[in-house]
Formats: sequence, structure tokens, C-alpha cells
Amino acid sequence: MRPFELPETFERIPRLRFLSGPTPLQQAERLSQALSTNIFIKRDDLTGLATGGNKTRKLEFLVADALEKNADCIITAGGVQSNHCRQTAAAAAKHGMECHLVFGGVPPPRMRGNYFLDQLLGARFYWTEKQLRNIKMAEVAEKLRSSGRNPYMIPIGGSNSLGAMGYVAAMFELAEQTALQSLQFDHLIFATSSGGTQAGITLGACMTGFRGKITGISIDQLPDEKSEYKYKSFVLDITNGACKMLGIDHLFSLEDIAIDYSYLGKGYGVVGEPEKEAIKMLAQTEGILVGPVYTGRALSGLIDLIRQQKIRLHEKVLFWHTGDDVTLHAYVDDILGNKIEGD
Ligand SMILES: *Cc1c(COP(=O)(O)O)cnc(C)c1O
Repeated sequence: MRPFELPETFERIPRLRFLSGPTPLQQAERLSQALSTNIFIKRDDLTGLATGGNKTRKLEFLVADALEKNADCIITAGGVQSNHCRQTAAAAAKHGMECHLVFGGVPPPRMRGNYFLDQLLGARFYWTEKQLRNIKMAEVAEKLRSSGRNPYMIPIGGSNSLGAMGYVAAMFELAEQTALQSLQFDHLIFATSSGGTQAGITLGACMTGFRGKITGISIDQLPDEKSEYKYKSFVLDITNGACKMLGIDHLFSLEDIAIDYSYLGKGYGVVGEPEKEAIKMLAQTEGILVGPVYTGRALSGLIDLIRQQKIRLHEKVLFWHTGDDVTLHAYVDDILGNKIEGD
């Protein structure tokens, strides 16, 4: 038996293969030098599906489930620069299914970044208020059903217990890589926003005996006590749901879900100085691109945690790169600092 085999219950869940193999685990030498620390990067920006990103791992399970249920079209939702929507559109195209995307807001004047790629991938668009996206998805589904179609709905960010299996598997992948390289991390840092990634990482960490401290850097979610939408409780529910799906007799609690809310800046998708610094620092030390919405913000959080010595200099840190480089193309002026009013 190999050291880190997935349980048999896991192997029974239908899964497609969108990744061609494990994503690289790389030592970031020049970034580490710049911050006087020891940083490694897990390259999930290289997962594939019309570039890459963390949603590819979730979609291996979600699209397999859609096919299992004989769906002929997929509906999902997000922001106009959603990486999840772009990757879903790519996965749907690959399996000959129509992809219907519900966006919050109004169509932007120009087709750029993910929105441009969605169009190339043949997706259809619907627009509504941000808070009404779930209702709109249900409406679109109803309409498709009444015309004889069989739609499959994927929640925002692909975040449910089935989608979280992608990151359970990813933790097993990481465990094999760290075992081969005799590595042990003190910290694991990543961007968290719709919860599926953190749920999968939390459960997978427990199953593989990962010993580092896991911290999701919140991109846009508030602490439960400050918001009607209880994000941490939601992540916990997905985690426990995934656990149950695998037949594991264990119940996680809120203390098992660590989220840092210190880096919300001026809100979702608003690029500030910390994100700009992080994006440029990684690009110019490692030749690796992080994006303005998720990974740039999470990396700026990591940089700050190091500067504040909340992560100490001798500790080994894994930064899980979840993608977002396509989004850069929609934020050129914000990042270069030539934003023109009304653009
Ligand atoms: C969706 C996304 C995240 C957040 O993952 P969740 O599972 O939604 O919490 C992080 N990084 C990128 C690039 C994303 O697109």
C-alpha cells in the first residue's frame, strides 16, 4: 500500500480528470529572500481548463456528477470576472454541454479577462443583482426544464461538499509531494471566498496528518458575528458534509476553520496598494503571476503576516496559488495606477 492512499469511499465518487497530473510544488527562492523567510508555492494556477485555477479540482467532481445525472447543460453564477465561471464554461465545452452563467451587476463596457474567455468558450450570459443570483439561477433552470432540457446547477464557486472533494484529493497530492521531498510546512496560506477550497483542505489535512497551521485569507467574507451570512459556519457545514459523504465518523467544529479577515481592503475586487505590491513582488522575484481579486490579496496577507512576525522567519510556509492571473487583464489600469474615472 502506498503511504497516502485515498479511502475506498472516495474512489467510489464519480470523477473526471481535468488535471494532467500533480501541480508543481516549488520553492520560491527569490521571494523567500526578499522576505527573509522560507516560502513554497503550490501551483494550482497551472491546473488546466482554459488556463487554470482552483475550480478545476472541484469541477472534476461536479461535472462528473452532472454527467452521471444525464445533464445536458450547466448553470452557475459569479461575478463578471469569476474564475469559477470561466473554468465551468471550459469544462462544459469539453463535455459538449451548454453553459449558462448568471452574473451579478450589469454588463461592463468592454469584454476583458474572464468575461472575454467566457464568450470564447461559448457560454450564455444572464444579469441580475448580486443578491439575486441564486434566484436567477433557479429561474434559468426552470426555463430550460420547461423546454425539455436537463440542467445541472453548480453553486457559486463550486462550493458544496462534492466540490470540496477536489481539495481533499489535493491534500493527498500534497502529502505525496512533501513526503518525497521530506518537507514539512508550519503554515498553509490561501485565498478563501466561497468556502469549498478551505473545506476540502481542512478535511484533507486531517486525513493526511498535515501538521501545519492552516489559514484562509478572507477575500470578501466578514466574521460571522459581523454578517448575516455566516461564512465560517458555512465552511464548517461543507466540511462536515464532505466528511459524512466519505463515511468518516468525525465532526469538525468552528475552531477547526481558521480565517483571517484582516485583508479585506476596500472590498471585493478593489485593488489597493497591498495587492499591487504583492502582485509585483511575486512577478519580479519568481516570474509568477497572481491576480488582483484573490491571490494578490492572499499573498499581500502573507507578506503582512511575515512582516508582523506572526509567521516567524525560520518557519516554512506553503502559499497555495489558486489562480486568478486571467483577471489581471481586466485590471490593467488599477494595477498600473492610471485608472481613468468612468473607465
Ligand atoms: C474561487 C477562488 C478562490 C476561493 O476559493 P473558494 O473555494 O471559493 O473559497 C481563490 N482563488 C481564486 C483564484 C479563485 O478563483
